[in-house]
Amino acid sequence: MRDKLRRQYQVHREVARNGYFEGKIPLVELERLQGLLHAQSAERGDSVSVRFEFVRNEFDTPIVVGRLETTLVLECQRCLEPMEVPLALEFRVMVDADDSVLQESDQDSIDSDDGYVDLFALVEDELILAVPLVARHDDSECNEHWPVADAATETRENPFAVLAQLKATE
Ligand SMILES: [Zn+2]
Repeated sequence: MRDKLRRQYQVHREVARNGYFEGKIPLVELERLQGLLHAQSAERGDSVSVRFEFVRNEFDTPIVVGRLETTLVLECQRCLEPMEVPLALEFRVMVDADDSVLQESDQDSIDSDDGYVDLFALVEDELILAVPLVARHDDSECNEHWPVADAATETRENPFAVLAQLKATE
């Protein structure tokens, strides 16, 4: 079963029919996430690819299982220029799990709103958790105006020297 994405899903109905969905959510729809992205991100029109299904887990609790893929544009904390960070992640989120299940399971649970889950909010939460706390280009990719970049490049180790060291210690 494959349908177009929407924001709200009625959990029990989708679990009963093993609803499976696939589609894209424009990143501009995720307002809380926007605050973590580079200002240029909104102009790019990026989206997050999502696919997920509704099933029951080993505790007979409804669970949304899925996968996200996107590229976020963050602000490099060193040169403040945009920096692309590709992300691909799996998620498993229970819905309205009982306290006893929460104690036994290491999976997260969200509360439904009158039996409905907001998929956009779920995806946004997963993305926010995956954003690196400190985003920074590799030394060689950082903006050329960053004053220490040249020095960092010069002092970088020759990869063959490292290999030679490894061989020597074998
Ligand atoms: Zn940078």
